Amino acid sequence: MTDTFHIILVGAGHAHLHVAANAAQLIDAGARVTLLSPGNFWYSGMASGMLGGEYSDSDDSLDPAALIEGAGGRFIRDRVIAIDRNERVLHLAKGDPLSFDLLSLNLGSRVDSPTISGIEEAQGVWPAKPIDGLYQLRELLESALADSASLPRLAVIGGGPTGVELAANLLSLSERYGRPFDISLVSASKRLLEHSPRSASAWLARRLRRRGLRIEMSASAVAYRQGQLVLDDGMQLPADHIVLATGLVAPLLTGELDLEHHPHHGLAVTPALHTPYDDRIFAVGDCAWLKDSPYPKLGVFGVRQGPILLHNLIAHLRNESFKSFHPQRRYLSILNFGDGRGMALWGHFWWPGRLAMKTKRRLDHDFMQRYRP
Ligand SMILES: Cc1cc2nc3c(=O)[nH]c(=O)nc-3n(C[C@H](O)[C@H](O)[C@H](O)COP(=O)(O)OP(=O)(O)OC[C@H]3O[C@@H](n4cnc5c(N)ncnc54)[C@H](O)[C@@H]3O)c2cc1C
Repeated sequence: MTDTFHIILVGAGHAHLHVAANAAQLIDAGARVTLLSPGNFWYSGMASGMLGGEYSDSDDSLDPAALIEGAGGRFIRDRVIAIDRNERVLHLAKGDPLSFDLLSLNLGSRVDSPTISGIEEAQGVWPAKPIDGLYQLRELLESALADSASLPRLAVIGGGPTGVELAANLLSLSERYGRPFDISLVSASKRLLEHSPRSASAWLARRLRRRGLRIEMSASAVAYRQGQLVLDDGMQLPADHIVLATGLVAPLLTGELDLEHHPHHGLAVTPALHTPYDDRIFAVGDCAWLKDSPYPKLGVFGVRQGPILLHNLIAHLRNESFKSFHPQRRYLSILNFGDGRGMALWGHFWWPGRLAMKTKRRLDHDFMQRYRP
């Protein structure tokens, strides 16, 4: 192995944070390591709290350049727009093409765009990802809360964990200023958090309604015009800003590599985390589709993949055997409702309250501290 063997990590996602922090191990094994990403890592676990005013933008983000450079690698701030797999070259939005020997993709996901007439042309539509967009929304809302006589009216589309967290934290932002927003949540499902126990959904709906959230369930938004979100039963909800929390799907780039992929799940990978027909291309996190045991699009899976990806990249350099990633069937998730309370969910068990939120704060803080310079 020569010292010019080039490993490029595309995307500063969860698994790549671990590889970047430990890049010295790859360099010791004879590689050059480059991390390429358009900007900072934004941590989704703290995104709703950041929207609600509990965390600052710097609490919720990390500089990946400091991480990789501290470990002896190189950072390029750019975006991959195309990959020539045969020539092993990446084409970038701004810079010159880059050659690679091994490639790892940790590109994240995008919000699944709902079919709502008028929404694509509209201003004031905020997908839940990328997370830095939520920070811009917060800044805009805070300036209205501080200075404007009238407040913008808001709607959140989606009644899953992301939609309820974001709606609850928009309420918190306005509660901080003592000026309640007019805010609605719309969901096509019959109940909030439809994959969680019914008792958890009922508790949550009661609590959010008490805080002033209008909840429209079993309702689909079909059109957006003149500041009104039109539902399938003809009801109109006032909305100057709309937050889309309609589920996460794979980024478009994963469909353009001439490799096996699924338009929603992402790039097919084996348990060793490389693509089935090209073991020089690895993919992890939300952009990867582990065909034999698909996992949900959650950061926690990327975190677990980090050490396995690092091991397998080193194994590739040393011609050693790969480790396999097996996603866990159950995992703890804790939702942040922005009022000091959370809801912990573990399989069929759930418990709400301040202790759940305290636990979440500690876990999130520990994760971010691991990668701060
Ligand atoms: C509001 C919200 C809250 C959430 N809360 C939680 C939670 O509490 N717990 C949980 O487990 N999951 C949560 N999720 C889901 C979570 O966001 C995703 O599962 C997670 O971010 C996926 O991580 P990743 O490592 O795959 O990619 P990401 O962390 O999204 O990172 C992808 C990286 O790739 C970069 N990138 C993208 N395209 C390119 C390109 N073309 N060239 C170069 N770089 C590129 C991006 O800039 C980014 O740095 C939440 C999602 C949302 C929207």
